[in-house]
Amino acid sequence: MLYWDYAAAAPPYDEVVQTVEQIMRLHYANPSSLHRAGMEAERLITRAREVCAAALAVQPHEILFTSGATESNNLAIKGAALQYQGRGRHIVTTQLEHPSVYESCRQLRELGWEVTFVAPRGTGIVDPADIAAAIRPDTVLVSVMHVNNEIGTVQPLREIGQGIKAVNRRTLFHVDGVQGYGKLETRLKEWQAELYSLSPHKIRGPRGTGILVVREGTALFPLLTGGSHENGNRAGTENVAGIVASAKAVRMSGERREELVRQLIPLRNRLLHCIAAMPELVLNSREDGAPHIVHFSYPGMKGEVLARKLEELGMTVSTRSACSSRLAEPSRVLLSMGRDVQAALGGIRISLGDIHTEADVALLEQALLAAVQSLKKAEGGMK
Ligand code: PLP
Repeated sequence: MLYWDYAAAAPPYDEVVQTVEQIMRLHYANPSSLHRAGMEAERLITRAREVCAAALAVQPHEILFTSGATESNNLAIKGAALQYQGRGRHIVTTQLEHPSVYESCRQLRELGWEVTFVAPRGTGIVDPADIAAAIRPDTVLVSVMHVNNEIGTVQPLREIGQGIKAVNRRTLFHVDGVQGYGKLETRLKEWQAELYSLSPHKIRGPRGTGILVVREGTALFPLLTGGSHENGNRAGTENVAGIVASAKAVRMSGERREELVRQLIPLRNRLLHCIAAMPELVLNSREDGAPHIVHFSYPGMKGEVLARKLEELGMTVSTRSACSSRLAEPSRVLLSMGRDVQAALGGIRISLGDIHTEADVALLEQALLAAVQSLKKAEGGMK
């Protein structure tokens, strides 16, 4: 089987697996304990915070460890909304966001906040002017993702950040950086972002850990209360092995970014051209998108059916983001960019990683052609 679902979960680096095992065996003490073993575990977390901070060009005390980007996104959005409700109760986000952002905003709306969901243009890219136009004096937060997890489009964060601050300097900017880190440059200062979420398991780190950058001067209302872990921002005994291994993945993926991009772009472009040449398929990804995501629709065919056919042919792909792939509904992301329901039901996402070669892509192309021909034949037979 060839695995083409890196955007859902990437296989951990060997070093990450070794780190998790070693730390679980040797450093099981509670980092809050005052004995020497506890202090050693705490020292490991401090070091991991420094490593992540260096990779993201922020200060160590601005790094907060969570259980995953879902939690990071929930904490950024609800934590900021609750903390700053005295300033106003309006939030701006986009129709492209991952469910962990989208549903956090919808939940706040149920609780009385006003939320503006800005639509992308037909390209799947949000116009910074549309974000700026949505900002009001009572807008406390804007949340926009770096790279869309379904179709791979890259959002113009610098222009969005500039637009936000030009309209309302006090409006906070949160970036869901999950699909961007390790593939594109991360420039929090240039984007003027106060909050930034990251998921180590998308960059060959461990699952069940997450990072939230909270820039100095920004406070969040804690969602998990208890002990004073993570500077009082998130109670709960720290996942020491996960945190240290996450820092390793953040560092390694940051260092290898340029090499990975050089490897993936020709593979991604080759796939884009192959799909564009197949009359049955409609491309939803672009050459100026992230280097690891190729998304297309087979209008009239359910994405799951094509994905299953490809699996029979040895190719593991996904229908959209892993979090939504069990939904039978059309993709919200594709509908928001003006695709019809048929196309929005028939999506397939191929996501690439550093194991993939030109020869793998050739095999995938053959499988795609065979799968589409076979489904077309079956359809013809049923008519
Ligand atoms: N944000 C984006 C853009 C994602 O792609 C994902 C995962 O698919 C998440 C957030 C959630 O990350 P996690 O799996 O760490 O909760």
